[in-house]
Amino acid sequence: MKIRVGLGFDSHEFEEGKPLVLGGVKIDSPFGLKGHSDGDVILHAITDAILGAIGSEDIGEIFSDTDQRWRSASSEIFLKEALKRAKEKGYRVVNVDCVFIADKPKIAPYKRAIRENLSRLLGVEVDAVSIKGKRREGFAREEGAVCMCTVLLEREDEG
Ligand SMILES: [Zn+2]
Repeated sequence: MKIRVGLGFDSHEFEEGKPLVLGGVKIDSPFGLKGHSDGDVILHAITDAILGAIGSEDIGEIFSDTDQRWRSASSEIFLKEALKRAKEKGYRVVNVDCVFIADKPKIAPYKRAIRENLSRLLGVEVDAVSIKGKRREGFAREEGAVCMCTVLLEREDEG
């Protein structure tokens, strides 16, 4: 069985009044995440992990933040491109494990919805998607959100 592992990391600052989207799910919040796209820190970390696993260019190289096409774009576009590239190389996702780090908002009430949405986007069972919410506890500043994730891919033809 041929397998690949990828590591993704992303962070965005909070921005008052911008819609907050995490893992493709709209979160009820007075602030969103600053960024050229919708600022979905979870989808960006997963996208970069998949791209890393297949040895591709990273998310910033493929989707330049100076390119007007990606302005306020849904980050599902980025994930779909990464999955397309993985598929072209014969890989599919086995599982993803994410750590979301922010003191606000609390993602616990949204965890199930995020896992279900990621399961749909990635084409895996819900139990192959993990999201762990953590508070900073002295790590970094409180002005944004961070996401780290690992992804495992396997060759479709070799099971
Ligand atoms: Zn990002």
